[in-house]
Amino acid sequence: MTSSTAVSAATPLARMADAGWVSPTSVPGLIGYTPKFESVLESLQTALTALDPHGLGGPVQHAPVVPRETIERAQYAESFPHLLGTVHAYASAEQATAPSASQRELTDVVLAPAACYSVYPQIADRTLDLEQHFDVFGYCYRHEATSEYGRFRSFRMREFVIVGGQEPAWEWREAWIERCEGLFARLGLKIAVVAASDPFFGPGDRFMRASQLQQSLKFEFVAPVHARDEGTAIASANCHKDHLGERFAIRFAEMGVAHSSCMAFGLERVVSALIQAHGDDLANWPEPV
Ligand code: AMP
Ligand code: ZN
Repeated sequence: MTSSTAVSAATPLARMADAGWVSPTSVPGLIGYTPKFESVLESLQTALTALDPHGLGGPVQHAPVVPRETIERAQYAESFPHLLGTVHAYASAEQATAPSASQRELTDVVLAPAACYSVYPQIADRTLDLEQHFDVFGYCYRHEATSEYGRFRSFRMREFVIVGGQEPAWEWREAWIERCEGLFARLGLKIAVVAASDPFFGPGDRFMRASQLQQSLKFEFVAPVHARDEGTAIASANCHKDHLGERFAIRFAEMGVAHSSCMAFGLERVVSALIQAHGDDLANWPEPV
């Protein structure tokens, strides 16, 4: 057997481990990342900071958990009950010695399902004068049912967010789509930009998905993240309309309920797409990465 046959026979995760990028664990979708992988992720973070036209100077790094009340207020569990990870603990130190796991109670935090949920509570229950821009970063958790390489349970997300009027929120997202196309082209990635659905407005039935597609509320940047992958969303540009403004009671004196949009990058997926495009030897990678 030649070495190239051996490589193609390995699973994408095993191949990534052999090439020194990742360190798998016994749990599907939970992976450690080597300094080699992290060096690319850091360069990507720097490139994203430079891309931000509002010059916020880099992301605010949030904790991997968010208040449970934030996620309840955003109605996340109504749309994605299967993905939410909760945190349980014993109610008091006395109970900490109790053998039964069933005595653990739900705490006041849940695992962050996306980075942008840290933003809306900061400006909740307010009437704003000016549109607001945010740059945030954090570990996210999604209780994914499948675990093909690229669909992780714990992963990092960088997000740029606008909270503003209806038109500015829409135009901001259009501008980010263009900016991202430019960035990914410079990084040597061949990307498809595709309309997608994301039922964050409600129960996510067929009607909701069709209506979201029709309204172009979500676009995904799709690229292969391993040799056998036909395409995975490495970033997404989302328009929330006034859903989160409504939920978090964010208003503008002149324009009424705030609209919002976010531009989200799945950092491990972008790095994996770069590895897929440029190979395992960083010395052979093109300069801009
Ligand atoms: P979404 O909120 O689903 O649009 O996710 C934002 C971005 O996070 C996506 O475009 C992906 O790049 C990334 N992402 C979402 N789910 C996962 C996952 N299970 N593993 C790795 N990255 C993910
Ligand atoms: Zn978001």
